Amino acid sequence: MSLIGRLRTNDDALRKRATAVIPGGMYGHQHTALLPPGFPQFFERADGCRIWDVDGNEYVDLLCSFGPIVAGHRHPKVEEAAAAQLARGDCQNGPSPVMVELAELLVERIAHADWAMFAKNGTDATTMCVTIARAATGRRKVLVARGAYHGAAPWCSPRRDGTTLEDRAHLIKYRYNDLASVEEAADRAGDDLAAVLVSPFRHDAGFDQELPDPGFARGVRQLCDRTGAALILDEVRTGFRLNHGGSWEWLGVEPDLAAWSKALANGYPIAAVTGTDSLREAATRPFVTGSFWFSAVPMAAAVANLDVLRDEDGVARMERAGARLRQGLADQASTYGLSINQTGPVQMPYLSFAADEDHERGSVFSVTALEHGAYLHPGHNWFLCTAHGDEDIDRVLTATDAAFAQVRRQFGDG
Ligand code: PMP
Repeated sequence: MSLIGRLRTNDDALRKRATAVIPGGMYGHQHTALLPPGFPQFFERADGCRIWDVDGNEYVDLLCSFGPIVAGHRHPKVEEAAAAQLARGDCQNGPSPVMVELAELLVERIAHADWAMFAKNGTDATTMCVTIARAATGRRKVLVARGAYHGAAPWCSPRRDGTTLEDRAHLIKYRYNDLASVEEAADRAGDDLAAVLVSPFRHDAGFDQELPDPGFARGVRQLCDRTGAALILDEVRTGFRLNHGGSWEWLGVEPDLAAWSKALANGYPIAAVTGTDSLREAATRPFVTGSFWFSAVPMAAAVANLDVLRDEDGVARMERAGARLRQGLADQASTYGLSINQTGPVQMPYLSFAADEDHERGSVFSVTALEHGAYLHPGHNWFLCTAHGDEDIDRVLTATDAAFAQVRRQFGDG
């Protein structure tokens, strides 16, 4: 892997062409303004935990496509299952039998799941959960954690542009891990409370991550039981990375509904909603569908991916790689006399520097790591996958060693 001064010729040319035909050149989380400066926009190929940008630069991938890649890019067993399904048909007049197989698999693996429905994106799934909860209860109010991301539809988009006040009129905010604030929000909802929406841990972009306080999780469950509201767990980012089933099963807390997407099919486009029997009838009522929601290839990929994760003990592998990375980063930071916070589960790590509100140190760190061959993000949690072996983590650590050295040079110690 070459150092410093990576070529960006092809990337620059594509950005220029994109600016002419795509509003703003790019959009959403791929918008240039959200991309750390110096990061490539376009990619050519990917394999395992390695990625190549359009200028041929190779990186160890610590972002895994913002989460969808969990078994490594192009895992042979997932690709084989997808190719076999594609050879038979993908987008047809109706679903393939694999839809039933996938629903059975989710019901078998996820403790609360008595049924499953499928869509394309995480936003589809969170929106469906809210819709089903409202259909079930006949109520309108939904409690959401301040700063949490649940998708890009008008009811939950982080931007106000193009939305109306009415789109969000029935959302009431609480603070993650603060049960009293949930109780307060529920009081404000009164007898109109349809659901409490919560993520398995607090993974807001740009902030240190927070694991769930067990008392908070249990308290939210009790509040939902008491009020008849649905507890919705947004597993879009966490699903199948923290556990082979639901992410709150270790806490003994089960949601009524959960939204899944990202890692479900190792990069193939699919989302799922799982739910309990008590919401089965309500789930039949809203009209939810999409032209591509019944495509068979992503479903076949999902079945293969879930089997790969279980057979390869995927969660344990990611934890092992994540622990190696966390220890290595801690050792390096201390060698350079730099004060860092490492938060979140080890397989979904987040690193921040002390006294770095504007993320200046974080930006220098990530850009230098990039120049040395490790793709990691300064403002978003990273994602490990099962393809990260010791050697890959050690390569990352070689890059981060240079990155810490650069932070130290530019900002001094502390
Ligand atoms: N919920 C969470 C927790 C997410 O992280 C995301 C995507 N980052 C979404 C919902 C929305 O998923 P999608 O982008 O696939 O619509």
